[in-house]
Amino acid sequence: MPAHDVLIIGAGLAGQRAALAAAEAGATVAVMSKVHPVRSHSNAAAGGINAALNPEDSWESHAFDTVKGSDYLGDQDAIEIMCREAPGEVLWLEHRGVTFHRSPEGKLGTRAFGGASAARTYYVADITGQALLHVLYEQLMKVHAQVERYEEWFVTALVQDDEGDCCGAVARNIRDGSMELFSAKAVIQASGGAGQCFKPTTNALICTGDGIAQSFRIGAPLMDMEMIQYHPTTLAGNGILITEGARGEGAHLYNAAGERFMERYAPNKMELASRDVVSRSEQTEINEGRGFPDGTVALDITKVPRKRTLEALREIVNIGRDFAGVDITREPIHIKPGCHYIMGGVKTDVWGATDIPGLYAAGEVACVSVHGGNRLGANSLLDTLIFGRRSGEHAAQRAAGMGMPQAPEAELADERRAIARIIGRESGGRRISEIKDELGEMMNEKCAVFRTQEGLTEAQSTIVRLKEEASVAAIDDRGTVFNQDVLGAIELGYMLDVGECIVMGALERKESRGAQFRLDFPERNDDDWLKHITLSVNGGDVPTISYSPVTMTQWEPQERTY
Ligand SMILES: Cc1cc2nc3c(=O)[nH]c(=O)nc-3n(C[C@H](O)[C@H](O)[C@H](O)COP(=O)(O)OP(=O)(O)OC[C@H]3O[C@@H](n4cnc5c(N)ncnc54)[C@H](O)[C@@H]3O)c2cc1C
Repeated sequence: MPAHDVLIIGAGLAGQRAALAAAEAGATVAVMSKVHPVRSHSNAAAGGINAALNPEDSWESHAFDTVKGSDYLGDQDAIEIMCREAPGEVLWLEHRGVTFHRSPEGKLGTRAFGGASAARTYYVADITGQALLHVLYEQLMKVHAQVERYEEWFVTALVQDDEGDCCGAVARNIRDGSMELFSAKAVIQASGGAGQCFKPTTNALICTGDGIAQSFRIGAPLMDMEMIQYHPTTLAGNGILITEGARGEGAHLYNAAGERFMERYAPNKMELASRDVVSRSEQTEINEGRGFPDGTVALDITKVPRKRTLEALREIVNIGRDFAGVDITREPIHIKPGCHYIMGGVKTDVWGATDIPGLYAAGEVACVSVHGGNRLGANSLLDTLIFGRRSGEHAAQRAAGMGMPQAPEAELADERRAIARIIGRESGGRRISEIKDELGEMMNEKCAVFRTQEGLTEAQSTIVRLKEEASVAAIDDRGTVFNQDVLGAIELGYMLDVGECIVMGALERKESRGAQFRLDFPERNDDDWLKHITLSVNGGDVPTISYSPVTMTQWEPQERTY
């Protein structure tokens, strides 16, 4: 049985950063990913990473912007840590080889991003995630003696010892279908977000909430699950992202009447208000009949000098041409709000530790919570790196003080049987892809920018039905080599669990805060709802709801205007 001090599930930015930190702290590490590491979803990140690095900026200003952006639901101790450590992390990346954009004076150059009171987003054109991911992967090569990579391995379940500590995982080698039980002194979930619960989404097909569901199933509480970010600028139909960097560089939003409508909603920050505010403004324009017939508004990037667009936004020039037939340097492109990011996730402390001893979480899978009700653009890459590193360090420290646990063999047999049952299902019911599409389209209708009790209740009962249908849905591929069919069935189970928790949280929170806007409770209500909603399973099937206080350090809640 393979055994490692620290087993990391996920090789995006959070996972790779955790691996480097754990290895540097002396641990033996395994990094496992269901795709090749550099194909992890972090690769898609475009606009950049925040840090208050300029002498005229300050970590306090970054932290306040983040607290305000979170609509005061973010935990301020965690936000302080993230913003204090950001400059060091960006410099660390630069010293490891990330070719950040430089100003004409040769200094690290910044671009403006939404909700920020200073231009503090560091970037590599509009391929920042790719640049970071490749540099981290190179760094992992250097520590290959300590870090074993399991590329194209799919974790199906976390395992626990008799005391309930997490002591490993069961995984399937996608290439040949073999199953293996891994023992570990600490396990770090770095398995990313869950955007595929919605259709369309900006997220890749691999973002199916695996780690959120796996952690939840063994009893780790989830927090702030109702907080789903709709990004203001996505292409209608396919959900492809047009980076916020476009507005950061000076692009404007217009309705069909040619009005720069953000003047009505956020007269100070305009297009660079926080994402929840801009998405709600766009959706209001569309719902009230001031959008285009295709249910969109227009993003005009021609306001940015063409030379600058071709230099700093070249990927979205390609996206506009290839996916919308639009030359964004010469004409506006139609966009709408689209599902982008999950602020909630597996509840952790500021070292990434969950409530289950031995289990850590970092990156989009986790809820520390630094984003609260609404994440500021370019704060996610920062979150992955800061808390990826911290969880790697802490997990290595835990590992140093204990012997290797023996993961129970029975778990491997259980997982083998579960997969055999999926493969052995008789055909006849609905297809996995149909159920997934219905889930995504339904979530996009009932659990989007605007929500109501009625819509959410319908969503809840739809998910109950979809769960039943999924439990008997047959697959076509009964083989062992790259059987994505069987993995798709497992992922659907994760998405249904995650979807159920998102809807439960949204139903429970009877107020409007950040990304959660309830038409039936349109005001923020600090008296009753300035608290986190936590969901957990304690042996039963139905999640139980509890609350935890928001950690405040120095910023009292204020009215939020931009
Ligand atoms: C289009 C787009 C652009 C973005 N741009 C920005 C930006 O400019 N700035 C910013 O701050 N944020 C941005 N974000 C958000 C940011 O990119 C993500 O939140 C972040 O990259 C998530 O990183 P991660 O390491 O947590 O997860 P990921 O990069 O998603 O990695 C998850 C890893 O887990 C593995 N995995 C998952 N399930 C399993 C399983 N069952 N078994 C084994 N392995 C598994 C995957 O293979 C992968 O390696 C953007 C997001 C999108 C969608």
